[in-house]
Amino acid sequence: MRILYVEDNMANVSLLKRVAHQHTVLNYIDGEEALHNIAVDKPDLILMDIQLAGTMDGLEVVQQLRKEGYTLPIVAVTAYAMLGDRERCLTAGCDDYIAKPLSIPRLVELIKHYEQQTTPPAPSADHDPTQSAESEESL
Ligand code: MN
Repeated sequence: MRILYVEDNMANVSLLKRVAHQHTVLNYIDGEEALHNIAVDKPDLILMDIQLAGTMDGLEVVQQLRKEGYTLPIVAVTAYAMLGDRERCLTAGCDDYIAKPLSIPRLVELIKHYEQQTTPPAPSADHDPTQSAESEESL
């Protein structure tokens, strides 16, 4: 599946790319840029950091996406450890919430969960599941 991770901390993006190496991971550090490209990027799952580069925060981006009729899953990624933060994310239109620092088991679980909701790609004759061909992996 195609995972769009809107995040301005590249260490977190690298971590997701390692965990989700059999998926395509797209990244923007700027929420407005992500909004502008969403129709072209066509992600199956969005992970949305809250504090972003640029003028919009993650929750504003989510609110805008939902206002535009975007229905696919969005998971908030936030370092805010405050009580009630989950509520703010859900109110903004997120489906779920994951806390920073990112936990690898939690990421694996999350990806597995949304994988099952996404239509698998048609099998192709030359596809070798034992071979990982992700170029981003070298980051
Ligand atoms: Mn951030």
